[in-house]
Amino acid sequence: SSSTLASLIADLGDIPTVTDAKIVRRRSRDFFWYSPILNEQLDGKSADLIVAPRDEADVVRVAAACARHRVPLTVRAGGTGNYGQAVPLEGGVLLDVMALATIEWTKPGIMRVGVGAKMNAIDTELQSSGWELRMHPSTKRTATIGGFVAGGSGGIGSVNYGGLREPGNILAARVVTVEEEPRIIELRGDAAQKINRTYGTTGIITALEMPLAPAWKWIDVVVVFDDFMEATAFGYEAALADGIVKKVLAPITSPLPSYFGALKPYCPDDKSILIAMIAEPSLESFKSLLGGRGTITLETPTDDSPGQVPLYEYTWNHTTLQVLKSDRSVTYLQCLYPHDRLLEKVAEMRDLFPDEVLQHLEFIRFNGRVTCSGLPVVRYRDADRLNEIIRLHEERGVYIANPHVFTVEDGSRYKRIEADQLGFKHEVDPYGLLNPGKMRSFTSTRP
Ligand code: FAD
Repeated sequence: SSSTLASLIADLGDIPTVTDAKIVRRRSRDFFWYSPILNEQLDGKSADLIVAPRDEADVVRVAAACARHRVPLTVRAGGTGNYGQAVPLEGGVLLDVMALATIEWTKPGIMRVGVGAKMNAIDTELQSSGWELRMHPSTKRTATIGGFVAGGSGGIGSVNYGGLREPGNILAARVVTVEEEPRIIELRGDAAQKINRTYGTTGIITALEMPLAPAWKWIDVVVVFDDFMEATAFGYEAALADGIVKKVLAPITSPLPSYFGALKPYCPDDKSILIAMIAEPSLESFKSLLGGRGTITLETPTDDSPGQVPLYEYTWNHTTLQVLKSDRSVTYLQCLYPHDRLLEKVAEMRDLFPDEVLQHLEFIRFNGRVTCSGLPVVRYRDADRLNEIIRLHEERGVYIANPHVFTVEDGSRYKRIEADQLGFKHEVDPYGLLNPGKMRSFTSTRP
């Protein structure tokens, strides 16, 4: 009620807030509109106010006030999630954590950083030390490290290190609980998986300790092939070639590159392409592995400084975005291919839906094996057909992490480390105030 909100605001003292309904409504959204299904379910959902803590002490005060007044609290960082992760279903506070962006310390191979730091800013800051993040989503220029850990899965770099769920890819997390007297909990090692991809339902993360990778001078490369399976077969060889240092390998079928705006001059009509990021000293070996099988049309240092469009912004879920820019009738899926029948399964799926599911793959490591994550662009008919396409994949051994659902449990059941996320939620959020509705299996046992 409005009197509850007024007493909450009074308790917040000088912590910055925004109550302008127009702004609050706009910031209560993310990229869920990629999904026609979520777009219907989540349209119009909004917080009541935005609260923007300046530091961890402010976060503790907001958490205490929300617990005292039983007001829901949903964390929002860059707001680039695809499943409505940051959309408050029951109003309340939208906690903008962007100000918690300080790098606390760095050592060789490891850093501790505030959750609001943008991943591009982190890598820029680390540059002179010779280290960089092991992996980042294709939204690196706008998304935060905290949003990635709480709402994402993997991305550029996962061809070497796997996803965030591989042991060792999140070293520690600091979490504020939502209780009348909030506690600060440090989760180390595998325990940090309790906050991985739980959409902010298992505590407010304030800082993260992340492992780093050696930084290279990366070269953006476009290779053109007559046939998508040739692009995939070569991508597979390059992924398996351990001596060739790479950060992304993304085969993309024709006609998707014809939607690629500024990249179109490098993508001849009716051809499939492979987008790669290769370390400069490995470029010669990469070309020699390629031989005469494909044609390199672009080769330029990766540049993600302001005003530039790095090639990785055509990979991962940016591939879908590039198509959506001119065709709002498409949507997408997220697939995980079996590593032992990879090329066979990719070909099978292509033959099953030649014009309806347009393939785009990302080579990744999963449990030590090289395989592909697929983010195909789907020509959308209706929800029934989409569910049928999902079923036809799963029946044939291609696992789907459904991007058309908004709960933690329904989105992805494939976990590398079993962490008791539900049990931890009971510990840190006894009243069920954190992003309510997103952890389906949770029911509060406290009044
Ligand atoms: P937000 O969207 O603000 O938040 C994400 C979730 O985390 C929300 O549930 C929020 O409540 C929670 N959260 C955020 N901060 C905290 C915190 N401090 N404590 C607790 N909970 C918190 N994802 C990938 O994994 N890989 C990709 O390659 C990828 N590519 C994408 C491409 C496009 C074009 C788009 C639109 C999205 C893509 N995504 C991808 C999804 C998303 O961009 C990333 O996961 C990104 O890292 C989210 O960060 P954010 O700062 O925008 O988080």
